[in-house]
Amino acid sequence: MGNAFIGPAEAPSVNGGHSGLSELIDSVKATYKPPRCTSCHKPILPGDSATSFYCPQCGQVLIWRCSKCRKGAIKYKCPHCGFEGP
Ligand SMILES: [Zn+2]
Ligand SMILES: [Zn+2]
Repeated sequence: MGNAFIGPAEAPSVNGGHSGLSELIDSVKATYKPPRCTSCHKPILPGDSATSFYCPQCGQVLIWRCSKCRKGAIKYKCPHCGFEGP
């Protein structure tokens, strides 16, 4: 007892039937997770002039910054080592 694992609310149903093209596209859409801005936590949309780079201190975490946070020079904080930078 005491299993604290919290899984996804809804698991994708997998069936081994005939797979149509629309089904394939749906599965790609379902599995595509946009990266989130490290500063404002909004998902980075394709086409946004966001930037990504590894943490200059630990090099373990890929930092994402959306165009809005870049323009506003919003601070980011590395979730791994706590490094804060402009
Ligand atoms: Zn942002
Ligand atoms: Zn770091």
